[in-house]
Amino acid sequence: LQEQLLRTQRLESLGTLASGISHDLNNILTPILGIAQLLPLKFPEADSNAQQMFKVLEINAKRGAALLKQILAFSRGIEGERALLSVHSLICDIEQIIGETFPKSIAIHLNIPRDLWSIRGDLTQLEQVLMNLCLNARDAMPNGGTLAITAENLEIDENYASREPEAKVGSYVAIAVSDTGIGMSAETLERIFEPFFTTKAADKGTGLGLATTMGIIKSHGGFIKVSSEVGKGTQFVVFLPAEETRVVISEDKPELPKGDET
Ligand code: ADP
Repeated sequence: LQEQLLRTQRLESLGTLASGISHDLNNILTPILGIAQLLPLKFPEADSNAQQMFKVLEINAKRGAALLKQILAFSRGIEGERALLSVHSLICDIEQIIGETFPKSIAIHLNIPRDLWSIRGDLTQLEQVLMNLCLNARDAMPNGGTLAITAENLEIDENYASREPEAKVGSYVAIAVSDTGIGMSAETLERIFEPFFTTKAADKGTGLGLATTMGIIKSHGGFIKVSSEVGKGTQFVVFLPAEETRVVISEDKPELPKGDET
């Protein structure tokens, strides 16, 4: 517990530091990006070599800006809105994006029941969580494979909770993102939620995706389970507390009242 507390404090100060640096860096990057975009317009007669340099300048300024945005999202403390959300439409939104942008060598399988309980949360943050998991799955399958997104209603009882240190008794919607990719070693698995931990090339990974994901899920009262096998694939399961008001779409399943409210 002591160790956990220290870890939390370390993460908090890291967050404060990151947020301070990001704001300053943002002020520095904004004019660089602006001028990089203006250069080719100002100097249309510049030769192709110079045009190429303008492009490199612009691309890298944009990369810097994207990285800063991620750091800010991570450090902003994870307040966010709390609206009643349907997990079904959340996943459908994500599916549309990945369906259009992921390589065709990756097959996408969805299994989302219509009668999932609703959850309360910040749509943008939860979309970010699912996107992070899907992007990691994509990166883990450079030669293609299957990305599966499934969801289910789950009642966690004391029995279950005693086996899972992170879990608390209650009603959850569990969203699983699985891939048939490279998998992770035990050493990697142990560190994936650390900020800035990445095994990817510098221009591919920031190591902030899963740290942000964990922060968002915790602030929603949820938890995450990961299982992975080298050469076989990885599964992340995100558990989000269900709301009392359940979204029931099919007629034959009556709305069930739920006892405890947070
Ligand atoms: P990044 O994607 O920028 O590296 P993340 O925090 O999202 O940062 O992930 C940290 C590390 O966790 C990755 O570099 C990778 O080693 C590992 N990882 C995450 N998801 C997967 C996955 N689905 N399959 C294999 N490794 C993964």
